[in-house]
Order: sequence, then C-alpha cells, then structure tokens
Amino acid sequence: MADKRWISEILFEPEGFRMSYAVERVIHETQTEHQHLVLFQHRLLGKILMLDGATQVTTKDEFVYHEMMTHVPILAHGKARDLLIIGGGDCGLAEEALKHRSLVRVTQVEIDASVIAFSKRYFREFTRPVFADKRFECVIEDGMRYVGETDRRFDIIIVDSTDPQGPGAVLFTKEFYARCRRCLKKGGILVTQNGVPFLQPGELVTTVRHLRRLFKDATCYVAAIPTYVGGHMAMGFATDDRSLRQASEAVIAARYRRAGHFSTKYWTAAVHKAAFALPRFIQELVDKAKR
Ligand code: SAM
Repeated sequence: MADKRWISEILFEPEGFRMSYAVERVIHETQTEHQHLVLFQHRLLGKILMLDGATQVTTKDEFVYHEMMTHVPILAHGKARDLLIIGGGDCGLAEEALKHRSLVRVTQVEIDASVIAFSKRYFREFTRPVFADKRFECVIEDGMRYVGETDRRFDIIIVDSTDPQGPGAVLFTKEFYARCRRCLKKGGILVTQNGVPFLQPGELVTTVRHLRRLFKDATCYVAAIPTYVGGHMAMGFATDDRSLRQASEAVIAARYRRAGHFSTKYWTAAVHKAAFALPRFIQELVDKAKR
C-alpha cells in the first residue's frame, strides 16, 4: 500500500483539509493550455476526472450533479427550446439535457478543446450520444466572451464551470452574469454551480448577491453529491419569474412525462420541489446576499 499513488483534491488546502484517492491506474495525465488534467481509475468511484486538483466528474456519482443541473431548470421552465451550457467539457451535462424532447438546440461553449478531445476518448458514454445528436452544437471559446458577443437568445443557461480559479474564475463575476442575462429570453433561467456552502460559503453569497442585482428572483437549490465533500452542493437559480420555482410537484411530474419520461437515478418531481427548501444555514447565506 505504501507505494500506491494517492491523488488529492487540493481545493480546500487553504482551510487545512484534503481528500485523497488511492489510484488504481492513471488513465491520462497532462498539462493542457489552460489547466492540469488527470483522469484515473478508482476502486469504488470508477473514473475520476480532476482539473487543477479539483474533482470534476466520477463515474459513480455524476448522475446527481448532471440530473439536478439540467432537469430542475428545464422542467421549472416548462417550455425550453434553446439551452446554453457554459463549460461542461466532459459532456455529461449535455447528455442529460438532450433527454428532453422539447429542446431544439443545445449549445455548449467550452474554453478548452483538449477537454473535449479527451472526453471523446475517455468519456464515450457521454460524448457518443451527444455528438450523434443533431441538436447539439459545440463551440470552443471563452464563455465570458461568448455571452458578451452572441446574437442568440436562450431559454436556459447552465454554467457547468470549474471552481472559481484558473480559467473558471471569470465565470463567477457580476459582469459574466450580466452578460448571461443579456442572452436570456423573457422568462429565462440561469443556473450556476456554487460549490458546497458548508466549506465555500463565500462563493454562494457572492454569486447570489450578484444575481439579486440582475434578476427579480435569485436563490439556490441543493443536492447531495458524495464526491463534492462537505454536505449539500448549492446550485444558483436566477430568473425574473418567481413562479418558476414554485410550480407544484404535480405540474413538474406532468412536464417530466411530456419531456420523455426518461429514467433518472436522483431526480424525481418530489426531489425537484424539495431541493428549493434550504437548510437554515444555507438560507441564511442566501439572505445575507440581500444585504
Ligand atoms: N461538473 C464539474 C464540477 O462542478 O466540478 C464541472 C465540469 S466541467 C469539466 C468544467 C469545464 O469548464 C471544464 O472543462 C473547463 O475547461 C471549463 N471552463 C473553465 N473556464 C471556462 C471558461 N471561461 N469558459 C468556458 N469554459 C470554461
């Protein structure tokens, strides 16, 4: 065991906390133009992708993140046709989103072409269905620049970013959220990944504070993702139509049936509704953003 390689998630190193994985086999490791990328095999979790020392995807629990980042906004909206993903290089999120029949186009804007090339090789379970779907379009560009320049308008924008470091840092700025708002159609929804509030409270407060200045309704919803350690993960949710997050469980269930009644492992209509009920310490962080 002593000579076994361990790879650590170093995201919480400033807080004096690391999580390490025993490596069965390194599948691929490289320094891309934008970040350090390592994919390795783990006994319990399957394939683990890390970028700059932060866990992005594991085979075993990707379903939680991908289902909750897609089905919640798409079914809260109810009539979405055009979806924009910023980041999302592994294509797991696009794969989940494309299960919705209502979507006419899913555009993914990823800064790092090598993450896409790499995923085509090592995450075929995501990339194969996605690239075979004529509704999918992949753009290699900085998400910040894209939302500043495109003429297109979207029903939903999902920011599937890395953490606020390296190339992903810009995707947590007020300027970026303002540009996203510019690209949303009336009644559109912006969803962001905001880390684990127990360990990263500032990330949630800052994002919700920015979103509240730009949208009539801004909050977050939560999901428990085992490898994003520290309890609930927060997903920012911003729109001008407050009723979108208040749809009843019956309405959400009916939309899901119309969407194709695909199989899910985490999302249910009841979980969708409950995800907006925030534990008090998270609600307090959201409220802090009002001040
Ligand atoms: N599910 C993951 C998580 O929360 O840890 C995120 C997955 S995805 C791999 C994140 C992607 O965002 C990466 O492929 C990264 O290259 C991309 N990214 C980072 N900064 C970006 C930017 N400014 N514009 C577009 N994509 C960006």
